[in-house]
Amino acid sequence: MQAFQVRAAHDYHLAEIELPQAAPGEVLVRVAFAGICGSDMHIIHGDNAFVRFPRITGHEFAGIVEAVGDGVDDVAIGERVCIDPVINCGECYPCRIGRPNVCTALEVIGVHRNGGFEEQVSVPAGNVHRLPEGLGLDAAALVEPYTIAANVLERMQPLPDDRLMIFGAGVIGLTILQVAKAQGIDDITVSDVIDTRLETARELGATRTINGRHEDLEAVVAEMTGGEGMPLIADAACVPALLPQILRLASPAGRIGLLGFNPTPSDLVQLEVIKKELTIVGSRLNNRKFPEVIELMASQRLDPLALVSHRLPLAEMPGAIDMLDHHPEKARKVLIRIGT
Ligand SMILES: [Zn+2]
Ligand SMILES: [Zn+2]
Repeated sequence: MQAFQVRAAHDYHLAEIELPQAAPGEVLVRVAFAGICGSDMHIIHGDNAFVRFPRITGHEFAGIVEAVGDGVDDVAIGERVCIDPVINCGECYPCRIGRPNVCTALEVIGVHRNGGFEEQVSVPAGNVHRLPEGLGLDAAALVEPYTIAANVLERMQPLPDDRLMIFGAGVIGLTILQVAKAQGIDDITVSDVIDTRLETARELGATRTINGRHEDLEAVVAEMTGGEGMPLIADAACVPALLPQILRLASPAGRIGLLGFNPTPSDLVQLEVIKKELTIVGSRLNNRKFPEVIELMASQRLDPLALVSHRLPLAEMPGAIDMLDHHPEKARKVLIRIGT
């Protein structure tokens, strides 16, 4: 069968590989759609220390159960499913306190083991989520990025009537916007430096957008909030150099959610953190957020297909990677169509 394989950093190709079998306790999924994520690009660029090559990446995917391994009795052949990429040990400290997404032995489907950019993939039965009728396999491939949003919002502990500011109107920024709205947060400001992205943010319900290149972010936020600052700030721009500004924009008692994976240090100002008693939280992958997001999608409170800019067959995946490398501004979510 065909697979998109990363052999080493910057070295990827369409490979003909052997069809996997459903291992005991696992489910063989015939992939229908898989989304390309920024973290797939990091793997391709050699910027992910956890990955072992060669690797078939892809952690955002949905498909149909083709076979089940020994011992699997709660998933049936022919069912439509999407897959939570987080595999945890269940025994370490974070697992014991209910934080499996930062398990000390964490394995991520598409990073530590093969993922969705292939015709069929075997995954643990416990990672499979059945799709309700009416939720398409294309939309279901986007459940995972929305779980990133649901996770960071939970980590930030929003209160009713809190204002939210989102840094970055890329795909993750837009999923945060949609999930926050669905959860009842009404006042959402989005900042970016690309106008077309901000336009999309407004179409998807942002109350206010700010282009940080043309407007003075701090002056605008001070005016909007009567000098109080922002209670909730989610950083989906993930530029370490912006962190000092994010601290300045936060209100006293504010909560800041960080998603970046960048190893470059940031200049955190102690005084700013202590004076305002800020809460700065990291958010990684998702902590059992698939049921919530599937429910939000099934009840049409999210609009995942609005994020899709391209649908391409697996054969065109190397070209898609090239486009994302050279013209990232041309794409939002690129969906790879595999078994359909
Ligand atoms: Zn992703
Ligand atoms: Zn663990």
